[in-house]
Parts: sequence; C-alpha cells; structure tokens
Amino acid sequence: MTMMTGAQYIESLRKLNTRVYMFGEKIDNWVDHPIIRPSINCVAMTYELAHKPEYEDLMTATSHMTGEKVNRFTNIHQNTEDLKKKVKMQRLLGQKTASCFQRCVGMDAFNAEYSTTFEIDEKYGTKYHENFKEFLKMVQREDLTVDGAMTDPKGNRAKAPHDQEDLDLFLRVVERREDGIVVRGAKCHQTGSINSHWHLVMPTISMGPLDKDFAVSFACPSDAEGMYMVYGRQSCDTRKLEDISDIDVGNSQFGGQEALVVFDDVFVPNEYIFMNGEYDFAGMLVERFAGFHRQSYGGCKVGVGDVVIGAAALAAEYNGVEKASAVKDKLIEMTHLNETLYSCGIACSTEGHKTASGGYIIDLLLANVCKQNITRFPYEIVRLAEDIAGGMMVTLPSQKDFKSNLKVGRNGETIGDICEKYFVGNGICSTEERIKVMRLLENLCLGTAAVGYRTESMHGAGSPQAQRIMIARQGNIQGKKELAKAIARIEK
Ligand code: SF4
Ligand code: FE
Repeated sequence: MTMMTGAQYIESLRKLNTRVYMFGEKIDNWVDHPIIRPSINCVAMTYELAHKPEYEDLMTATSHMTGEKVNRFTNIHQNTEDLKKKVKMQRLLGQKTASCFQRCVGMDAFNAEYSTTFEIDEKYGTKYHENFKEFLKMVQREDLTVDGAMTDPKGNRAKAPHDQEDLDLFLRVVERREDGIVVRGAKCHQTGSINSHWHLVMPTISMGPLDKDFAVSFACPSDAEGMYMVYGRQSCDTRKLEDISDIDVGNSQFGGQEALVVFDDVFVPNEYIFMNGEYDFAGMLVERFAGFHRQSYGGCKVGVGDVVIGAAALAAEYNGVEKASAVKDKLIEMTHLNETLYSCGIACSTEGHKTASGGYIIDLLLANVCKQNITRFPYEIVRLAEDIAGGMMVTLPSQKDFKSNLKVGRNGETIGDICEKYFVGNGICSTEERIKVMRLLENLCLGTAAVGYRTESMHGAGSPQAQRIMIARQGNIQGKKELAKAIARIEK
C-alpha cells in the first residue's frame, strides 16, 4: 500500500479515458488544460501534504480494515479525534490552496455509505456492506480520489422522481441483469468529477415505494463506458487562457472544479452496488452524507477565510492604513466570524458518536448549524475584505498594460511606466506586489475561487433551507416546551 505523491496522482489521471467537454468541444488532454489544471493541482495538494512529516498526524490515518497507513481522505472515522482531525486537515488545505480541493466529497460519501450499507444489510440481509468494504480497500490500497456524486438535476421540484415528465432528471436503474444494473441520468454541479479516478453515486432525496428505481447507490470508474462530463464555467475563467495573466488570475496555481456528469446507460457490476431499490434508506444516506459535508465546511471554508483575512490585512498594509482603528476592527470582526465557523466544525465533531457499523458520525444538529452559519458569515467576511481593499481590486488595468512598452507619455513613458506610477502604494511594497494582493482578493471574492468560497458557501452541501429542515427535525422543540412548563409550573 503506497500513498501517491502529488506528481504521481497527476500522472495517474493520464491513464484515464475520461470524456470531457468544454465550450462545445471535446478536450482530449484535460490534464494539461490551463482552465482545468489549477483544480488538478488543488487535489494534488491532498497527496503532497500527506508526505510531509509536520502534517502526517492530520493528513494520514491507520486503516481500521488493514492496519495500514492511508491518506485521511480515504479513512473511516474511528472516534471523535478522527472527526476533529478531519476538520483541521481541511482548514490546513484551505489555507494552502485558497480554493476547493475537492477530495472531501468522496471522503464524506465513504463515511455515509459505510454506516448506511451496514444498516441496510441488517434489515434486508443484503451484502452491500461487504461490497462497500472491498471497494474501500481498493481505494485505500491505490490511494484513489473518488467523487461523491449526489445532486440530481431534479426537474420540477414539486414532483417526486417517478412523477417527472422526463424520468432521466433523477438518476435511475433502467435495466436489472444477473450480473449487475444499467443506470441512466445525470449528477450536476459535481465538484471534482473530472479529477477523480472513480465516482460513488448516491440518491439525492428521501424516496417512497414508487421511487424504487431511483433509490440506487454504486461506484464506477470515471471513464466507464457511457459516462461523460461537461465542464462548468466560472467567472473570469478565460483569463487563464491569456498568454500573460498569472497575476490577473489572482491564484494561478489552484482552483476548484464543477461539472455536469452524464450516465448514458452505464453498466455497474453487482460487486459495486451499495443500494438497489431499498428506498427507505435513501433518506438516511442523504442525511448522513449531507451531515458529513456540512461538517467539512467548518474546515475548508475557514482555511480559505484565513487567506481572505490575510489578503485584506496585506492590502491595508500596502495602502498604508493598517494602523487605522476602523481597519483593525474590521479584521477583528472577520477573525471572530471565521473562528465561529471553525468552532462549529469542531463542536459537531466533538459531539459525534458511534454508528452500528462502528464508524463515527458527527452530531447532525450541530453540523447543520455549522453549515447554516456558513451560508452567511463568508459573505460578511468578503464584504469587509472588499471594504478594506478599496475599489482598486476590480478596476485595475490588465497585467499586459503593466508590462506594455508602448510609449504614451509626454516624456516617452510607456503604458507600463504610467501604470506603475499611478498605482504605487505606501513604499513598503512594489506596485506589482500591491497588484498581486488586489487580484488575489478579486479572485477570492468575485473570481474563480468565489465558486469555492462564496456561492458554494451558500449552496454547497445543501442550500440554506435544507439545513433549516434538519434543524427543525433535530431541534427538539417539544423537549424545550417541557423545560419551560417545568419552570413555569404548568402541569399539563
Ligand atoms: Fe472539500 Fe470544501 Fe470543496 Fe466540499 S467545498 S469538496 S468540503 S474543499
Ligand atoms: Fe462543496
């Protein structure tokens, strides 16, 4: 069992025949494509840091199935310490990439599947848990990245899966054979799908008896016959195609990635099936995966938040206003909000408990509160960052202007000279350094990383209303009424 390095991971992707489309064209060499590559670099960081002695404790774990050392992204949490280390690992990776590093969806899917398949087998005498464990052993042995795929297109939200006019709008089984099943449909907004070796597919909502064909969970390689992906575009993405743009891109090394993943009649052999018609467990799988992913946001978004706060503080320093009390107070507020999010991630981990399978799960109420806060606080953190940075972060001339030798000035100054002169800061940094921080902030607040920091904070791991439903279910209002009655001496 060997854990891959970042470089080995990138090379391993070249062996896949994943079918990728972008801007209406098929992309054959997607590994080196300038728009896609930063998101691959981001996942590579989850491999790279696992080899650094200083991060070994956070980035690796001991497999409870084989006793071997594995990347924590493939681990089944064995106690609340594991749950906390997961959040700390995600904060670290957010700090190192300032982006969505994508590999968590698979990790969260593993942990949800592990406990749910165990409970399906207990009720129905099926063999899903064994299937899943064998699959997971392969994932650990080969140190694979697996995309947890949950979100169906859903069509008319007022109708159940079996009631849709076009049944493909929820992924379903279209054929059952002796040796497996054939599935059809799509998963959308899939984080990290192109960069993953395998996909682990789950249903997207609770289901009833008429939705049996939609209650399906399985794993398949990302280049399975009949599977293809359409890359999701991001704000400012074509800046990455310009010849001189590393500063304008803001974060030229790392980025996130989403895609529409289509299953156009994909065959899945029996050994990779983890749910096939047990509709009464669809809700449990969804709830657990969502719970784990809502915990995750208390790590990853906090790490990216650390970079936003750092960039805002640097912008203030380069503008010469870092001593102003109003600026200091905004940085305090940003830190307070960010650490509150982290507290939620740690709290739902600390309050975790053992499931029937032996794997540990977070406290679901606190995980949902964690994510609910994340639909709000990053927006306020970004607002304060933009306040501190000033309008320059969105009005600057391009990098090409700063490099231009075209003479325009009265004394023969070039466009580059003029831009340098008028965008100079307080003298402790070069103009270029000041521009770099502004572009990083633009990237984090509005550009490609905003997918991972802002809008994803709203909708990733479920939109705000999904958490409110869970908070309502877990909030025990009846129990609280009893408390009030006891204090008020109301007897019935
Ligand atoms: Fe991981 Fe966060 Fe990206 Fe989800 S949004 S995959 S938790 S980095
Ligand atoms: Fe996400």
